[in-house]
Amino acid sequence: MIFETAFTMDTSSIKFGPGVTREVGHEMQQLGVKRVMVVTDPNLANSEPVAVTLATLRAVGIDAVLFDQVRVEPSDASFQEAIRFAVQGRFDGYVVVGGGSSMDTAKAANLYATYPAEFLAYVNPPIGEGRPVPGSLKPLIAIPTTAGTGSETTGVAIFDFLEMHAKTGIAHRALRPAMGIIDPDNTRTLPKMVVACSGLDVLSHALESLTALPYGQRPAPEHPRLRPAYQGSNPISDIWSTRAIEMVAQNLVRVLEDPEDDAARSAMLLAATFAGVGFGNAGVHLPHGMSYPVSGLARDYVAEGYPAHHPMIPHGMSVILTAPAVFRFTAAANPERHLYAARLMGVEVSEARAEDAGDLLAGAIIALLRKTAMPNGLKAVGVGPEDVDQLVAGTLPQHRVTKLSPRAANADDLKQLFLESMTLW
Ligand SMILES: [Zn+2]
Repeated sequence: MIFETAFTMDTSSIKFGPGVTREVGHEMQQLGVKRVMVVTDPNLANSEPVAVTLATLRAVGIDAVLFDQVRVEPSDASFQEAIRFAVQGRFDGYVVVGGGSSMDTAKAANLYATYPAEFLAYVNPPIGEGRPVPGSLKPLIAIPTTAGTGSETTGVAIFDFLEMHAKTGIAHRALRPAMGIIDPDNTRTLPKMVVACSGLDVLSHALESLTALPYGQRPAPEHPRLRPAYQGSNPISDIWSTRAIEMVAQNLVRVLEDPEDDAARSAMLLAATFAGVGFGNAGVHLPHGMSYPVSGLARDYVAEGYPAHHPMIPHGMSVILTAPAVFRFTAAANPERHLYAARLMGVEVSEARAEDAGDLLAGAIIALLRKTAMPNGLKAVGVGPEDVDQLVAGTLPQHRVTKLSPRAANADDLKQLFLESMTLW
């Protein structure tokens, strides 16, 4: 096998600061846009960030049309609804105000309205065909209202494929927003559980991209066009992931204790973007791959503070509950990196032995889960040992991410990781 010798660093432009939402009209005008689809979810439809966005677009003469039917944890059906709206509206630009669900929905609407195709055409294999996006999309500006997904910097859109009860996605550089407008004023009033879950998602993005298989251990692509967006850990993404881990470790508990702590809230929002730049290029691995079937199995669990229209295990929660078992497993592949990650989370590692790396990192994560009032393992969200075979079957097709694990995991390994995640402390 010929190994990869190159890596790339792609990201959206970023504008950060309190009140910068008011500059979205100016930015869209610079991009030459005349008619914009403003994408959000029903809970935010009457919120201030959406009102400000519509007003500033209209103030510069842009025709702004609101679509407020995003489903939190979107599905192929909810993507299709947004796509229909986009096709009928003949928009030449998109603005999204919201969390990862809204951002991913806007990316899909932009893609299929610009290059119409059968829905599965661009979806990741093996569920879809994984057809490359033919060219550039219409300009999309993302205005995140949670400090979590980092979706404003990535070319990935995740959804539930209802027929198979599986999460999958569309991943291509062309989906990346032209700009992320990151305004700490927009995250002032989030429920604590939303802050905690999205903050832990940020942590996992950073830990997974820092520990991902190094890019030089991946097979080289046959053509530059086929180099994946998720390339494995590399010297540039390491910088972003490192800093994001420190920022979450220092600020997540602070912002939960005092939502008025502006410095901590700003730091969490920046951390989400930093981790997004890191994982948008390096990729994530087992905790994300294993989280998709966990979310797909939501039966009656409804997290406090989330809109309870349908049972849902929040993305960040389903990711972080398997992270301790995963890092105990992957530490053997690169103990130094796992010790380094534990140190970034505040653990004293100067005397630590290589064989303790996994336990030290897992311990640091569990301590943070307890401080952020997370459920104690998968059992606490209604997933039991009897579900493990189904969970393993749902993880195996997530090649795009699982193959970036620094230590290869077969079906038996995954089974063991799920079983170890049932109860964490
Ligand atoms: Zn995530």
